[in-house]
Amino acid sequence: MDVYSLRMRTRFRGITVREGVLLHGPAGWGEFCPFTEYDDAESAPWLASAVEASEVGWPSPVRDRIEVNTTVPVVSPDEAYRMVAASGCRTAKVKVADPRSSLVDDCERVAAVRDALGPSGAIRVDANMAWEVDPAVDAIRVLDKAADGLEYVEQPCVSIEELAAVRRRVDVRIAADESIRRAEDPLKVAVAGAADIAVLKVAPLGGVRRALEVAEACGLPCVVSSAVETSVGLAAGLALAGALPSLEFACGLGTMSLLENDVCSASLSPVDGQLPVPRSAPEPDLRDRFRPDEDTLTRWAARLARVRSR
Ligand SMILES: [Mg+2]
Repeated sequence: MDVYSLRMRTRFRGITVREGVLLHGPAGWGEFCPFTEYDDAESAPWLASAVEASEVGWPSPVRDRIEVNTTVPVVSPDEAYRMVAASGCRTAKVKVADPRSSLVDDCERVAAVRDALGPSGAIRVDANMAWEVDPAVDAIRVLDKAADGLEYVEQPCVSIEELAAVRRRVDVRIAADESIRRAEDPLKVAVAGAADIAVLKVAPLGGVRRALEVAEACGLPCVVSSAVETSVGLAAGLALAGALPSLEFACGLGTMSLLENDVCSASLSPVDGQLPVPRSAPEPDLRDRFRPDEDTLTRWAARLARVRSR
């Protein structure tokens, strides 16, 4: 079984190592990499996505290149400046409201990102549900000023009702990420007036086709983001971005830079802020270099078997 374990460059989403299983089938390669804390039910759509990639393949794209954002984790302003300048991207997504970072730190990081991008660049921030309504409104106003204009704020609060309340009180657009993934009915997000933009991730939604259905159902402009996969999983995100009827914003698929290595030598790292839309995932020809220890192999084999047998 092809299990990989890759170190992350910077702690992100509380993790320092990314692990998963690579599946091979008649359509190519797929990646099964639900986060460690996800139970079998929550991991099931991740398997459906890997099975679609390896067994069925993806729908035909309507575009062949995707503009992507660079991602700035909780780092110093100097490091943020360096990361953005080196990325070649015209859009940056900055992580804010992290327990390790104050609002003042967030503003300094966002201002450094603006310096690196220049006035024509776009800055979006992601709070990952960290705020209540009032603090969200205050923080968004301050960050919007520090950024000299935010493109949007991703998931400032937990619930759809809170998102809608924040959205009524600020001028900055609101993007729903966790709300789309967790909603049994993504239409609710749009009907509640909770968001201007929907963030779609292929693996937690259960594949490219399922994500296209969600996009159509919610009726909002969409941004495709990764779940910090290797280039095998990123290819599925690019397939979705390539197949969406319209795409107004840069996608969050430039995340290879968050990992120290890739299982593919034909790595999907952005060039000049763009990535190509592949027809299938690149060959994970380096996978043997990143095989984990026996315990990790056993753990993933058991996990895959459990999710498969559901
Ligand atoms: Mg997010």
